[in-house]
Amino acid sequence: MNETIAPTTLAPQQAEPAPAAADAVLTIDLGAIRANYRRLKAELDGVACAGVVKADGYGIGAAHVASALAKEGCDTFFVAQLGEGLALRRALGDAGTIHILNGIPPDAEADAAAANLVPVINSGTQLAAWRQAARRCGRGLRAAVQVDSGMSRLGLAPGEVETIAGDPSSFDGIEVTLVMSHLACADEPGHPANERQRLAFERLRHLLPPAPASLANSSGIFLGRPYHYDLARPGAALYGINPTPGKASPMLPVVRLEAKVIQTRQLEAGAGVGYGHTFRATGPMRAATVSFGYADGWHRRAASAAWFEGVRLPFLGRVSMDSIILDVSALPANRLKAGDLVEFLGPSQSVDDAAGHAGTIGYEILTSLGHRFYRRHLGG
Ligand SMILES: *Cc1c(COP(=O)(O)O)cnc(C)c1O
Repeated sequence: MNETIAPTTLAPQQAEPAPAAADAVLTIDLGAIRANYRRLKAELDGVACAGVVKADGYGIGAAHVASALAKEGCDTFFVAQLGEGLALRRALGDAGTIHILNGIPPDAEADAAAANLVPVINSGTQLAAWRQAARRCGRGLRAAVQVDSGMSRLGLAPGEVETIAGDPSSFDGIEVTLVMSHLACADEPGHPANERQRLAFERLRHLLPPAPASLANSSGIFLGRPYHYDLARPGAALYGINPTPGKASPMLPVVRLEAKVIQTRQLEAGAGVGYGHTFRATGPMRAATVSFGYADGWHRRAASAAWFEGVRLPFLGRVSMDSIILDVSALPANRLKAGDLVEFLGPSQSVDDAAGHAGTIGYEILTSLGHRFYRRHLGG
C-alpha cells in the first residue's frame, strides 16, 4: 500500500532534443507509466493487471504505452474498437491478449478472429455472430463476456444472462476466457452503487461458464480486495490521472506539454486583447503570444494559465485556434523571449488541475490533445 516509487524525472536532458521546427512539445514519460503500473500491481497484491489503451492510449500513443507495459510483464490489453485492436495487433506482433470492449461490428468477425482479437460480448446478437464466426473458421474462438451490473451502458442485461444460461448451445465453439462488468461510480468510494454492482456481478457471473472475473477500473482498484477479482483493467491511473479524487494522487505524472512563445509585446492601458476584445488592458502590461490553441486540444474553457519557471501566466482574452495570449507582467522584463517554452501541463499544472479549472475530467484533457506536437518519449 505504502510502497514508494522513485519518481522518474522529466528532465529534458534525458531525451532527444526537440526539433527547432516544433511549435509545441508533448513529453511522454513511459518510465512513469511503467512505475504507475507497478504501483497498481502493488495495490492489487498478486491479482493480474491489464492495460487499457483505448483511444490511442488516452491520447498518449497506444503502441508506445503497450510496449512499455509489456516490459513490466503486462500481457492483457483492452481497446474500445476493432480498428484500434487491429492497429495494436500490428504493433505488438503475436504477443498479448487484446480485448475489444465495444465488441465487433456486424460482419467484421472474421477480421477480428484472423488477428486473434478477443471480443467483449455485450449482447445476445454479438454472441450469436461470434458463434457463427467460430463455426465458419472451424475452430474454437475466445471471448470475454460483459454483464451489465448496473451502469446501463454495455453488457448483457440480467434477463439476457438468464436466457443465455438456460440454453446449452449458447457458447458452442466459444471459450469464455473472461467474465467482466464495469463500475459506474468507482471514483466515489462511498457511493452505494459500488456494492450493489458488485453483488449483481457476483450473481450474474455464476450463471455463466466458469472463467476469470474482472470488475475494477483504475478507481475500482482502490475500492479494496472485494473488487479486484482475477484481473483489473486500469486506464486513467496509468496515465497519471488521480484514481482517488479528493485525496493525494498515488500516481506519477506522465505528460508534460509545452508550447513556444512566438511574439512578445507591451500593452498600453485600454488595449483590446484577442477575439471579441473580451479583455482590455487596465494599465501598462506585458504580453506574450504562444503558438498553441484550441486546434491543439486546449478548449476555450480549459484552464486559463500557463507557467514559466514556476510563475503563473494568466491567459488574456480568448483562446484562438493556433495561439494564446499570456500576461507575462509577473516576469522580469525580457525574461521570456520568442522561442522559449511555457508549460501548459507538467509539474506546475497537472492534468487533474487543468481538468478541474475547465470543469471536466483528466480523461478529456488527455484524449483532446492534438496532433501538431512534437512527441518526445522518455524512459521506454
Ligand atoms: C475505459 C474503461 C476502463 C478503464 O477505466 P479507467 O477509469 O480509465 O481506469 C475499464 N473498463 C472498461 C469497460 C472501460 O470502458
